Amino acid sequence: MGHNLYSNEKHDHDNHHGEQLIEDVTEFYSAIDRCNLSRQLSSERPYIYYTMEVYDQSNGIRGGGGLGVLAADTRRVAQELDIPLVLITPFYRQELTQVISNLSQTEELKNVSPLDHGYEFVDDVWIHIKDQPDVILNIYQKILGSTRFLTMSEPNFGELYAGDGSGDHRLYQMISLGFGGYWAMKRLGIKPAIIQLNETATVFAAVARLNELCSNGMNLYEALVYVRKHTLYTNHTLVQAAESEFSYDQFDRFVFPNITSPALRRWIGGLFVDGRLKLSTLTIELAEAKNGVSRLHAKVADYRDINGEKVKFRAVTNGIDINTWVHPSIVTYFRDKEIIDKFNLPAENYIENIAKIPASDIRELKINGRRHLNQILAHRQDQYGNPIQIPEDAIVFDFKRRFVEYKRPWLPFENLDTLKQILLENNAHYVAAGRVHLGDTRMYQRLQQVLAAIDADPVLKERVHYIQNYNEELGLALAVGADVAINVPIVGLEACGTSFMKDIANFKILISTPDGGVADLQPAPVLEVLGHDYHAEVESVYAHMRHACKIIRDDHLLESEVHRQLTAYLPIISGARMMKDYLKFLFPGR
Ligand SMILES: *Cc1c(COP(=O)(O)O)cnc(C)c1O
Repeated sequence: MGHNLYSNEKHDHDNHHGEQLIEDVTEFYSAIDRCNLSRQLSSERPYIYYTMEVYDQSNGIRGGGGLGVLAADTRRVAQELDIPLVLITPFYRQELTQVISNLSQTEELKNVSPLDHGYEFVDDVWIHIKDQPDVILNIYQKILGSTRFLTMSEPNFGELYAGDGSGDHRLYQMISLGFGGYWAMKRLGIKPAIIQLNETATVFAAVARLNELCSNGMNLYEALVYVRKHTLYTNHTLVQAAESEFSYDQFDRFVFPNITSPALRRWIGGLFVDGRLKLSTLTIELAEAKNGVSRLHAKVADYRDINGEKVKFRAVTNGIDINTWVHPSIVTYFRDKEIIDKFNLPAENYIENIAKIPASDIRELKINGRRHLNQILAHRQDQYGNPIQIPEDAIVFDFKRRFVEYKRPWLPFENLDTLKQILLENNAHYVAAGRVHLGDTRMYQRLQQVLAAIDADPVLKERVHYIQNYNEELGLALAVGADVAINVPIVGLEACGTSFMKDIANFKILISTPDGGVADLQPAPVLEVLGHDYHAEVESVYAHMRHACKIIRDDHLLESEVHRQLTAYLPIISGARMMKDYLKFLFPGR
């Protein structure tokens, strides 16, 4: 079985998803008790997914983090299940690469082209901007089984999250996705069965649809009812204050020139408060179905609609594509032992079957993962620009996530003596990775401080490795090859997180605060980081790191911890389960 991320070839477009796991999508639909889905979803009326970000480097698109990984996994799962789905997203022709020099982050921009990644040119569409010539967007698509990427961009489109979140360029990118993507879909004769808006930056797709209905003669209020019924808003942000907002003048220059219906322009104009409009306000008006991406997140997300009413979010916890993120030898094992079924859903007797996994199997399967990790590390660079190799008998902790405040990547470095002692006493290494968001000066500094502290100590220098330019390849290598993952977001701030799922599915031990998807289960059946203040949390992490080493070195403890984590989280991890939840939510009743 050829695996995208296991392939060393640079431009490998052949995909392992081509080999379908199931004969007929109706079998999956009846497995979720929705036989009439075959009539609701078809290649002419597919599931449409709009997103500013996708993380799928094998298809040429690099994202920034979890939101993009979710989008990519949603498409992969749809393909494996034979569900017709069109993912509409920009093809950014420039992408950012992290380079550490003098122990500080710098960035390089790399050019990418859809033509280097197997996309075919479809057509051009025109975006209108006030007092400026039209912008020509080039539409490229790539068909993958029952799914396709439909992308737009032009040479000056810029990179993902270029510029200020409420700036002109960002709004330009958003209308390009929304209007440009909608018109591209129409050119191809695609009619949406449902439109999923992955975050509010994609809302102009719903606006474009409204405009089309209005210009076809439907009155605005009927059109609103129709669009609301067929739009899902998926929220990943915690507080409305953090959402981007734009001025009336910005809408006048970028949005209104693309709307032909005067009634629709007036209606949008009426949503402005003090001359500004939050995209979340508009999105809430246009989507009846709304969801957060974990139970905790759906509960704590604090949003108000235009009337000041609190918005209710359904919880649909993210899942991952098991074929992408779990080592192939473990996927095969799960299938042989009837732990997952052919849809990659938990098999009927998964609980009993997980309970039978012996430590010897876990250790044997982990050897493959460690080998893969070392293969990847051989062509990657640590903070000094050197490749590293992890000794076979060493325990590996990893911390792989974006270097942002709420994830607290520096937490395990609070007490350097304790960290040193844990690593030395247990023959352990600590591998960290994660980029600072472009322009986040405070985090550049904190990363530099951590790297300088490691540099100043010979033991830490030997055992703590910061691998440059965190990406999918490294995410996967650490998921399969490390032993213990550390995940310590401030409770309440992680929307879901998916890297913890990759860890648990690959038999790692998870040390985590009860946040995001981890907190779908309470108390969280992992090495749960608790504490009434920051200091107590730090102590809790160190205590768990010691305990995790004991678990790794002891067959009985390893077995029971792996059984406990996997039994509890397998249903959550399954991307097919996520797809099932979305379909049940969007197509209720028979
Ligand atoms: C899995 C993955 C993520 C998701 O990370 P979370 O911190 O769990 O949201 C982000 N980036 C990459 C490269 C990944 O592989």
